[in-house]
Amino acid sequence: MTEVVHTPRVFSGIQPSGGLTLGNYLGAIKRFVEMQENGVESIYCMVDLHAITVWQDPAKLRHATRELCAGYIAAGLDPEKSILFNQSQVSAHAELGWVFNCVARMGWLNRMTQFKDKAGKNREKVSVGLFSYPTLMAADILVYHATHVPVGEDQKQHVELTRDIAAKFNHDYGVDFFPITEPVIEGAATRVMSLRDGTKKMSKSDPSDMSRINMTDDADTIAKKIRKAKTDPDGLPSEAEGLDGRPEAKNLVSIYAALSEQSVDQVLSEVGGKQFSEFKPMLSELAVEKLSPMSAEMARLMQAPDEIDAILRKGADKARVIADPILQKTLEIVGMVR
Ligand code: ATP
Ligand code: MG
Repeated sequence: MTEVVHTPRVFSGIQPSGGLTLGNYLGAIKRFVEMQENGVESIYCMVDLHAITVWQDPAKLRHATRELCAGYIAAGLDPEKSILFNQSQVSAHAELGWVFNCVARMGWLNRMTQFKDKAGKNREKVSVGLFSYPTLMAADILVYHATHVPVGEDQKQHVELTRDIAAKFNHDYGVDFFPITEPVIEGAATRVMSLRDGTKKMSKSDPSDMSRINMTDDADTIAKKIRKAKTDPDGLPSEAEGLDGRPEAKNLVSIYAALSEQSVDQVLSEVGGKQFSEFKPMLSELAVEKLSPMSAEMARLMQAPDEIDAILRKGADKARVIADPILQKTLEIVGMVR
């Protein structure tokens, strides 16, 4: 069998399961914009079908989907350059997701740490969708034959599962159809941690608003959250090794590095020796400087929800042109009469 070379194409998504956080921005959206600017064909989705794996109030879900779109655009994604749409408007995702439910093995999904974290002790009571989430995510990516997926560190395992699904499908049906997608996990803050607990990921669905910085927080709120962020009593070290075993300190320095586009070592050469009482106001100022133009633009875009909906519909039309033939070909490969 000759190996098919897939044209580079980027896909990624974010759930409208709440407001956007600084973690989503640094781990995902900032990378999305860079990839768009590199000129690679890119497709960025608001994955609303993933959001309902846990209960969402319908009105809040609609609002969060539009706000997520506003966040994408405010951060620099251009609907003329990238395809922006919400997942549920392109039914090929869910259809391919079913096929992948029949390709992925229970044992593979049982190993997914996101499910373990989100289900906790409640395994019997969570939705079936929360468990099979990664097969739908594999479909999101592979229905576009995407070759690269920019994500935060927490999604690495799901992209690896996507690769396993692609490889098993290709093997079982004797084809070279789906690409083996590469995760793209880059930058100084690929895993932004909670401001309240340096061992827990910052998440938009965390019940504590003090655990995260939202892209829509105003300057006072950002300053308050950073002032109250957990730290240890020591000052800042001059080299990265000095942050080992100090998750909260490491987190704040990494956020500063990512926002100022420097490495952790570069930041420490500037701030090493300072106390947190001095560093925290510097971090607040930087965060406000970077986030406030985006939150202002988000608020402006949210004044015209009809325009956002029109962008999503247009994006979905473009997405279907790519996804539908790939789904049809998949169904033909597996033996469905066409
Ligand atoms: P939820 O709590 O509902 O799962 P979330 O904040 O984890 O929300 P997702 O929609 O699950 O956000 O993830 C969207 C993207 O943001 C993914 O690429 C994910 O890896 C990235 N991401 C999420 N949280 C962080 C974080 N704390 N640091 C870096 N990247 C993150
Ligand atoms: Mg998440």
